Amino acid sequence: MSDIIQLLPDHVANQIAAGEVVQRPASVVKELLENAIDAQATHIKLIIKEAGKILIQVIDDGVGMSTTDARLSFERHATSKIKTAEDLFQLKTKGFRGEALASIAAIAHVELKTKQEDGEVGTEIKIEGSEVISQEVCVTPKGTSISVKNLFYNIPARRNFLKSNAVELRHIIDEFHRVAMAHPAIKFDMFHNGSEVFNLPVSNDRQRIVNIFGGKTNEKLVPVKEETDLVAISGFVGKPEYAKKSRGEQFFFVNNRFIKSAYLNHSVNAAFEGLLKDKAHPSYFIYLQVDPKSIDINIHPTKTEIKFEDEHALYAMLRSTIKHSLGQFNVAPVLDFDRDASMDTPYGYKSKTVQTPTIEVDRNFNPFKEEKISGGSSSSTKNYTPYKKESAGSWENLYVGLESEMKAPTSQGNEFSSVAFESSEVTGSLFESDEKKAGHHTTYQLQKKYIVTTIKSGLVIINQNRAHQRILYEELLRSITMASAVSQQLLFPLTLSFSKKEIALLETVKEQLENTGFVFGQQSLGEIEITGVPVVTSEKEVAVLLEQLLSDLENEVPDSGFSQTDLLARSMARSIAVRTGVEMAPEQQHYMVNSLFACTEPSITPDNKPTFITFTVDEIDKKF
Ligand code: ADP
Ligand code: MG
Repeated sequence: MSDIIQLLPDHVANQIAAGEVVQRPASVVKELLENAIDAQATHIKLIIKEAGKILIQVIDDGVGMSTTDARLSFERHATSKIKTAEDLFQLKTKGFRGEALASIAAIAHVELKTKQEDGEVGTEIKIEGSEVISQEVCVTPKGTSISVKNLFYNIPARRNFLKSNAVELRHIIDEFHRVAMAHPAIKFDMFHNGSEVFNLPVSNDRQRIVNIFGGKTNEKLVPVKEETDLVAISGFVGKPEYAKKSRGEQFFFVNNRFIKSAYLNHSVNAAFEGLLKDKAHPSYFIYLQVDPKSIDINIHPTKTEIKFEDEHALYAMLRSTIKHSLGQFNVAPVLDFDRDASMDTPYGYKSKTVQTPTIEVDRNFNPFKEEKISGGSSSSTKNYTPYKKESAGSWENLYVGLESEMKAPTSQGNEFSSVAFESSEVTGSLFESDEKKAGHHTTYQLQKKYIVTTIKSGLVIINQNRAHQRILYEELLRSITMASAVSQQLLFPLTLSFSKKEIALLETVKEQLENTGFVFGQQSLGEIEITGVPVVTSEKEVAVLLEQLLSDLENEVPDSGFSQTDLLARSMARSIAVRTGVEMAPEQQHYMVNSLFACTEPSITPDNKPTFITFTVDEIDKKF
């Protein structure tokens, strides 16, 4: 038999490595930004075109590279950052694998311009699919500029796999935020399709956070500080009353590197125990400084998970530090008096399964996984993992939520009545006009949850919340695609504040929102004015509706294949649909029955849950 093993050519090996390092444009952004930081840049500029599909460029004023280094930097395992394996335990840099540039150059058109401080001229190199096209001297300022064009041009499967520009841009902004937040002493700018998205001057941690998330953030932050031999903790947690239903602003940085940690997240939540409403997530921006020897970040190429030497001590310390801060800043009492009642409106998406945050980490890659499972902390791991799916159907959970709110003492009692009032107001506007059209069914509402009616063959039991979701969903889809919705003008315009990122996200669905009946007025720094809302909703619901929509847009399930219009219609339908626990007048029940069965797909919700069940007389007979 002849020998059959051969070494893979470099460009093939690089393409394979690229699969691990570069999942999407945002991964390139992360690698390039980190390289610029490692090069001691004081000003970093990120330029993006078409969500990174056309261009990702990072310009820094760092140390630059010599001509030889510039050429070498594209070789695999070429790094200036470690020399021996021991160096891995002393890491002060972001990179160390020497894989990023080689990987990126294997799957894109790359142009590098670089010059060192003392170099007279710079070097310009062009590479396409690992192949050096040209290398020339050039005139360029000190530092490095890398342009990555036409990402995945030679891997159509990957290119087609990319999500909409809105989604890819969001991932890029997330990466940009993480890097910028970890390095407030560096000036960052970001441009997308020619317009400036962020301009972050040199500042401290707090200002940087405020510059990113908007002026209103400042008043929401409670500082956290503690220093021990094991760890220095600094940063901020959000006041409990601002906690959101989506886990948006949650950041851990370890030695200025953004990381994810379900374990530490649990510790923060534990510190907030008793201060948060059910299902609300506190925001936090926590910076940990530890001895590089006490952590292992060498787990995955994208390096968002790290392993701590003394995880348990860290957990306890973090929890008590945050508890202390919350106590010291007297945050707890504020909760009772300053609570924003609109945040308490229960809405039908409460039981939404929590999505893994944006960057996908290949969990199988984690060499510590075995250890975790067999280790002492394994049993508790299950309880605090945020990725746990909730199994109960949405209305069931909702009902539980309502029930507990009804039973809750004093102040909570009022909230419930206001909620019920709000809801009936909404349903009123929806149902009244159709009163006359209603058929002549006899309907009956069961437990403020189901509508029961008869059909020829027997009995139908309709889930009121789910049925309404279906009705609204189809209605909304129609108005979005046909731009046919009517708007109700608000007497006084409503002004809502959002972060830049949220505004950018809303921009991506602005047209669809307008088609549902929203009318947007002026938009100034961090604030959007709303002068008209869809007839199917009420003014009071708008804030919650948009918050939910943003959270849904952020958590859009990759690969779900749903268009943004669909997502928007589903999200709005879920927010507006009549809740379980709301009493419905007979004409409203009729409307529900008629409209449901007039739907194209009456039997399921937009999320594929059954909207009604039937019992035939035969089936009933059998029970007797
Ligand atoms: P790593 O960052 O893991 O070392 P990379 O492939 O990202 O690997 O980069 C390879 C090398 O190229 C780096 O070690 C560094 O010496 C050099 N390099 C990359 N980007 C820059 C930059 N913006 N400025 C200066 N040197 C850079
Ligand atoms: Mg690197």
